[in-house]
Amino acid sequence: MSEKVNDARQQAGASARSVCIDIAKQLSDIVKHTLGPSGLDNMLVDQAKDVVITNDGATIMKESDIDHPVAKVIMDVARTQEEQCFDGTTSSIILTGALMEEASTLLKNKIHPTKIAIGYQIAAIKAEELLLDMGMKVDERVLDKVAQTAMTGKSAGICVEVAMAAPLEDINIVRRPNGKIRDSTAISGLLIDGQKASHEMPDAVEDPKIALIAADIDIPDYAQALNVQVTNNSEVQQFIEGRNAQLVEMAQSILDTGVNVLFCSRDIHPAIIETFATKGLYLVRRVRRSDMEALANATGARIVVNVDTISTKDLGTSKLLEEVNIGERPMVKLTGTPNESTVSVLVRAPTQHVVDEIKRAFDDAIGVVSIAYEDQSVVPGGGAPYLTLSANLKEYAATVGGREQMAVEAFANALEVIPKTLAENSGLDPIDSLIALRKAHTQEDGWKYGINVNDGTACDMIEANVVEPKRVAAQAIRSAADISSQLIRIEKIITAKRKAEIGDDDFQY
Ligand code: ADP
Ligand code: MG
Repeated sequence: MSEKVNDARQQAGASARSVCIDIAKQLSDIVKHTLGPSGLDNMLVDQAKDVVITNDGATIMKESDIDHPVAKVIMDVARTQEEQCFDGTTSSIILTGALMEEASTLLKNKIHPTKIAIGYQIAAIKAEELLLDMGMKVDERVLDKVAQTAMTGKSAGICVEVAMAAPLEDINIVRRPNGKIRDSTAISGLLIDGQKASHEMPDAVEDPKIALIAADIDIPDYAQALNVQVTNNSEVQQFIEGRNAQLVEMAQSILDTGVNVLFCSRDIHPAIIETFATKGLYLVRRVRRSDMEALANATGARIVVNVDTISTKDLGTSKLLEEVNIGERPMVKLTGTPNESTVSVLVRAPTQHVVDEIKRAFDDAIGVVSIAYEDQSVVPGGGAPYLTLSANLKEYAATVGGREQMAVEAFANALEVIPKTLAENSGLDPIDSLIALRKAHTQEDGWKYGINVNDGTACDMIEANVVEPKRVAAQAIRSAADISSQLIRIEKIITAKRKAEIGDDDFQY
């Protein structure tokens, strides 16, 4: 029986291993066609009919409505890959699929699952050892290639500039549609998506004293919900005045800290906004959480969650705050912040979908360049290291012996799925391409050769400027090996029924 990824119903005793293999293959099929520069995008539509168009493996996994428990375990591989390396998520899922498919052939040949798992671990350890001797040192020119590979050329220079200038936590990326991709820029200082809450507020503030509030600035809900019994108009008047006085008092207690710039992640009562405006305070409402965190990191302000407790020591500073016009709406720019390594990237593109996709690419590319910079080691792309490892593991398998030897060979075969898929996605014959690539790898310096996605030939990836951090491939192989050896040893999948559903045989969950 073919198990669907969206069908989480399981029967104890069903062939658990074939379910695992089937689901690993299905997940791989979902993302396979997005691998590489010629990969196609996936369009994801959620229940609210919101659309995400992406070719980022992690996003596809995150946004897809896939709820089979085995699928969830495999999707964790993509999550780990994204967290550790910012890249290689699609590759990790495809590798897992290929390892499970190879395992299925071994199972048919009556190789015991434990032997497969041990063989896979032996192969993974050897691959790690082989990777130690692989790779090249890093300089700025190489980093530029890394960024180009990650961004497929788009605005790669910005990524290198930013990744070399600042640690990842000091980089803020903001988006603005209705522009050209080439107008994307990096600036030193902090850009925040937002604008002043009232026209009466100033356009710029020198030496701002900045407060960050992550709560509504209003009289609390429970006080508003009071049922007030009034008997005449003057009492109504009194009640309203009382409330307004309370609001003004609240605004004043915030102003008493010496604040003249306030960013609030929630909403603010209009009477309070008016009081702030007359006192010359600069205020932005509904600031994104990530922007609030970037503000705290750049200015030294503390994010306050209880308005009553705000004090002068919670405030942050910078030399200048100004509103700058970008596209048809303003943005807030802070320069001269105490954290001097603060940089921002402004992503421009024609539409919101494109801007979102490019932001994701920026996030990843900047992370990838930082990793290459940190590790000081890169490898050629285009599937090159996978083929090198595959060839070496095939040789090594002969020294392993026993049933595990077959598992090491299967592992070596599975690694070829990356160059093979790259060739396939370019519309080329994957077998011809793979044969050409294997041949190229027997030459001197053959390890640099990967798939040329334009014509399917094997080409020197370093000359072609396709370079990646070694950590991306190492992590993808390690986690794919781990998850496959775990899944292959699963004997039964038992999902406990929720109490109310016991006795309801047709219930699907
Ligand atoms: P992942 O989520 O695994 O990073 P990508 O869609 O980003 O998936 O594809 C990455 C793969 O594409 C890597 O193997 C990389 O070496 C390869 N690649 C990227 N650019 C090129 C190129 N210009 N030519 C050949 N291969 C490339
Ligand atoms: Mg990638």
